[in-house]
Amino acid sequence: MDRRKIILEESQIPEKWYNIIADMPNKPLPPLHPGTLEPIGPDSLAPLFPEALIKQEVTTDKWVTIPDEVRHMYSLWRPTPLYRAYGLEKALDTPAKIYYKYEGVSPSGSHKPNTAIPQAYYNKQEGIKRITTETGAGQWGSALSFACQHFGIKCEVYMVKLSFHDKPYRKIMMNTWGADVYPSPSDRTQAGRNILAANPDSPGSLGIAISEAVEMAATRDDTKYALGSVLNHVKLHQTIIGLEAIKQLEIAGDLPDIVIAPFGGGSNFAGLAFPFLRLNMDEGKNIRCIASEPASCPKLTRGVFRYDFGDTAGMTPLLPMYTLGHDFIPAPIHAGGLRYHGAGVIVSQLLKDKLIEAQAHDNIEIFEAGVQFARAEGIIPAPEANHGIATAIAEAKKCREEGVSKTILFNLCGHGNFDMKAYDDYFAGKIKQHELTQAEIDASIARLTTPLIPS
Ligand SMILES: *Cc1c(COP(=O)(O)O)cnc(C)c1O
Repeated sequence: MDRRKIILEESQIPEKWYNIIADMPNKPLPPLHPGTLEPIGPDSLAPLFPEALIKQEVTTDKWVTIPDEVRHMYSLWRPTPLYRAYGLEKALDTPAKIYYKYEGVSPSGSHKPNTAIPQAYYNKQEGIKRITTETGAGQWGSALSFACQHFGIKCEVYMVKLSFHDKPYRKIMMNTWGADVYPSPSDRTQAGRNILAANPDSPGSLGIAISEAVEMAATRDDTKYALGSVLNHVKLHQTIIGLEAIKQLEIAGDLPDIVIAPFGGGSNFAGLAFPFLRLNMDEGKNIRCIASEPASCPKLTRGVFRYDFGDTAGMTPLLPMYTLGHDFIPAPIHAGGLRYHGAGVIVSQLLKDKLIEAQAHDNIEIFEAGVQFARAEGIIPAPEANHGIATAIAEAKKCREEGVSKTILFNLCGHGNFDMKAYDDYFAGKIKQHELTQAEIDASIARLTTPLIPS
């Protein structure tokens, strides 16, 4: 019988994460201090992150050992299954072979616990009692709540007020795992109080919630902050996904021609794609890696490569990245966790160097793809994951038109079981095509006064 699901033993969970910085032909440019515009060192991160994570943020070691306790926690849901998408191949009538790595089997339903667990572990090692974070749709907040509960750390989540009221189930998940969840802006921080004074009815934003979580961590000794995407150490932890997938494809006797993942800040894309990029760099393979983003927030396909702030309020160091401008407000579409103005530093450099590719898909196309996938394969994907599925379907259709068989692998980074409202809106015809004009992008980028990067 042809194998539909390829699983590994617990003992085959990788023992090391892969750090792509070691292999990059052009290393990422340094972050800059927003005032002096001088490169800043890792010590400036000390108020916010434990030492072990700051070390991982800047290390050039190619392999980083996964602590035993983290591997043991991973074994709760890892290794995750790799599926051959026979149903989708048939529905598309394509000669392509399609595989997907399924990260929705984690307790919170996405890839995010792959980094939440090690982040909570290293904080615990350094005696931290409380971790603050922000969450939009709730995927990251729930993953971190689960991880903190395991390690006996208090978790404080600032949840964008609009989502807090619109998405009660994610909040209740966080409460179930013992976290305190506050609608942001809140009256607990100066940042929140300032916003409320100016606009008592503010619906909040990810930028505001970040400011609140960072302020709480920076002003308390026993408290640190955690971020669920964008940063180098987050991407490092996520490489467990691709490292497992390579072992699973070996069992299947296959190697992908194309590797695809949805793209918000870059963590699940990095997680699947970086270990395959290593095969390109170390073993001369020629695997195309494609990041899939929403057409309404197209930083990779239509943004500029320059220094910009990581947050809306302009509080972070300046980072060299593809960006639409830090005050770019994407339309309120159902792209969930993909509505971030910039891309992580490593991924940006890789795109600049043409070592990876990017594609954008519109709102309606991604729900068509998600529904087609659910009907062919059974699992209902997270709306974010639908972007990767749309790219996989487009590439599989190309194979049909050209009469060639390629092997395609994509990341099914989360299930959509808490996103029925979005699917309901799609079925009710409430999801509208959104055209982002060049003038809108140009205007946002023109507002930037941050340093350019000479090409
Ligand atoms: C958070 C999230 C994303 C986007 O973040 P990345 O860092 O780009 O991976 C995508 N899909 C799911 C299911 C998420 O929870």
